[in-house]
Amino acid sequence: MTSTLHLQHGNLQLPVYMPDSTQAVVRSVDSIDLESVKIQSVVMNAFHLMQHPGSMTVQSLGGLHRMSGWTRPIVTDSGGFQAYSLIRQNPKYGRLGNDGIIFQPEGSTRKINLTPEKSIQLQVGFGADIVICLDDCTDVEASRAEQETSIKRTISWARRSRKEFDRLMEQKKIPQENRPLIFGVIQGGAEEDLRQECASALLDIGFDGFGYGGWPIDTAGALLEDIIGLTRRLVPTQFPMHALGIGHPLNLAACWRLGYGLFDCAMPTRDARHGRLYAFEDGYSPEKQSLMTTVNWLDYIYCTDDRFMRDSRPISEGCDCPVCTRYSRGYLHHLFKIGDSSFQRLATLHNLRFMTRLCELLA
Ligand SMILES: [Zn+2]
Repeated sequence: MTSTLHLQHGNLQLPVYMPDSTQAVVRSVDSIDLESVKIQSVVMNAFHLMQHPGSMTVQSLGGLHRMSGWTRPIVTDSGGFQAYSLIRQNPKYGRLGNDGIIFQPEGSTRKINLTPEKSIQLQVGFGADIVICLDDCTDVEASRAEQETSIKRTISWARRSRKEFDRLMEQKKIPQENRPLIFGVIQGGAEEDLRQECASALLDIGFDGFGYGGWPIDTAGALLEDIIGLTRRLVPTQFPMHALGIGHPLNLAACWRLGYGLFDCAMPTRDARHGRLYAFEDGYSPEKQSLMTTVNWLDYIYCTDDRFMRDSRPISEGCDCPVCTRYSRGYLHHLFKIGDSSFQRLATLHNLRFMTRLCELLA
């Protein structure tokens, strides 16, 4: 399996956890902060950025890297998942058709028509290092008929995306070695034959890597390891795979074990802002062998809890982040209690370093 991915703005050592920088910022921290906790790459969202600040503004500010002061690789997401989360849960926000997705954002009279071609144009124009094809994302509980429609669309959109990508590379005269990578997304819900059909069609079209598409957790909150593992086995090992939306620490370790190398998830930073901080279980010395087992090594420190008021220990013993090397749980508790905005920043920095350290330990 690939251990390093060579991209325009640097190499990614796998496994890599990428925080969601949906609107070109990881909430409450900046690019200097991200470097300080060894983040290698971030995931930005083409659909959100086309609305705010808008693609012309991004262009005027020199592309996403220049605009956000981030010099390392950027992966852009297509907008397919937003269609799933916005429209499938509330049809008044738009509709999916064979030609693409029509969004009608809340409180706006403007309609946004996102086609596979448009999504690729946006992502390439933004200067992303990895672009992802627009896909039709489903819930694993959806009916067989819905899954069939989803893979039909996903395959057709992947073919159109690939064509548009190649056309743009020719038009812009970008040589092979300077091109972004393009990833296709495998859908099919929990239906093995549909996953297979989708994977084999995408392999025929030809991509640099692939994503696991679809909601990855069952209704009880458990990771869908069987179908996620099966999907990985449908793709030859030389292709890197991105476990889209997966990044809870235990799920990241489980999917790395299954052969996935790229991960993104909003949970570690969202948890941090809510005061849920990650640590290894007391007395557990983290090393690859045991991290790769199913033993639960993860502990949560809820430092907003009053019992940490006079706790002079760092959030996590052994953590080398800018927070643990300088501040105590008690001080963080104090910052939270007085409502100082530095609480969110410090908490986010710690959880991000926990994630990058986890990846280093698993490598
Ligand atoms: Zn720390």
